[in-house]
Amino acid sequence: MPLFTLVAGARPNFMKIAPLVHAIQKKQAEGADVDFRLVHTGQHYDKNMSGDFFEQLHIPTPHANLGGGGGTQAEQTAAILVAFEQELMAHRPDLVLVVGDVTSTLACSISAKKLQIDVAHVEAGIRSGDLSMPEEINRMVTDSITDHFFTTSEIANSNLRKLGVADEKIHFVGNTMIDTLLAQMPQFRKPAGMPFDQLQAGEYFVMTLHRPANVDQEDSLRELMHAILEGTAGLPIVFPVHPRTAKNLERLGIAAPNLHLISPLGYLEFNHLVQHAKGIITDSGGVTEEASVMNVPCLTLRDSTERAETIHLGTNELVGTDPKNLKPYLDKILRGEWKQYQGIPLWDGKTAERIVDILLKHYS
Ligand code: UDP
Repeated sequence: MPLFTLVAGARPNFMKIAPLVHAIQKKQAEGADVDFRLVHTGQHYDKNMSGDFFEQLHIPTPHANLGGGGGTQAEQTAAILVAFEQELMAHRPDLVLVVGDVTSTLACSISAKKLQIDVAHVEAGIRSGDLSMPEEINRMVTDSITDHFFTTSEIANSNLRKLGVADEKIHFVGNTMIDTLLAQMPQFRKPAGMPFDQLQAGEYFVMTLHRPANVDQEDSLRELMHAILEGTAGLPIVFPVHPRTAKNLERLGIAAPNLHLISPLGYLEFNHLVQHAKGIITDSGGVTEEASVMNVPCLTLRDSTERAETIHLGTNELVGTDPKNLKPYLDKILRGEWKQYQGIPLWDGKTAERIVDILLKHYS
């Protein structure tokens, strides 16, 4: 019986892994001969960055937790590399499946490949071309040792072909993050209490920021926050602050009556707020995909994106990191003039099923 080891480590992994676990469990219930182990690397360990997602997205308790959180990029990578190698030696699988582009994606694919275990990468082939992003390095290294490439877009397919990846290894299947979005949408719920009670649909902004380029330099973060406050016409701004961003933001001491700095939200609450927002201001990759599918205007505060389909077919615009660029985009959102979601091929809620079908065919 084939054994698949599924890896999840940080917040954006949990939405991508949930539908894969559910698709395998469905196959098992239908009598398919397959087993899996779910491994949490412990990269994110706070309740509001990890535990809540397992509960809300009905992800089973992991078979192992590697406790690899904290420390520098290298310390974290090393801790996960070592602990995951031990996991693989104790429970050798036929395949290790990694998702996305976080430190755990990189470390676990290396541990697996060095033990001659096949690697499947979900969300393979996307590239920002910006090596100052740790995620870009994670993508490049992971894709260089991947056996099965599961992709979200034609752009990713084309990137992989240019790198010389054989066509039969590239599987254009869609987006598991959108599987979760579509499956959970009926459960979205408005968070209780203030400031949420005073929010009116279409009359507030949601923002998230956690990329080093935006949050690590106090001066540029201050300038960015001022430009956002000036450009949003006094509408409430709900800003669930990523732990990476919290310290610098506190030090700036920026406050305004319409700026609501809050702890990271649960998935169902956050996406309720996104679904009903006037617009989104973000540097997250996943949020641009979700906002696009929900047809909500989205501004990305980065100079590049690895998800160009959210701009061509979605509701996302690349604003850049210079705060001066923001005003015309915000004005356009405030005037209600924004492009509509065109539909992105295969982002239809069935991606995980496609992936599991392909893997079962290969390993049975
Ligand atoms: N998210 C959430 N609560 C929040 C902020 C984000 O549940 O307070 C979700 C969001 O819906 C998306 C994911 O977290 O599914 C994005 O994670 P993140 O921005 O950390 O990662 P990125 O997509 O930038 O890699």
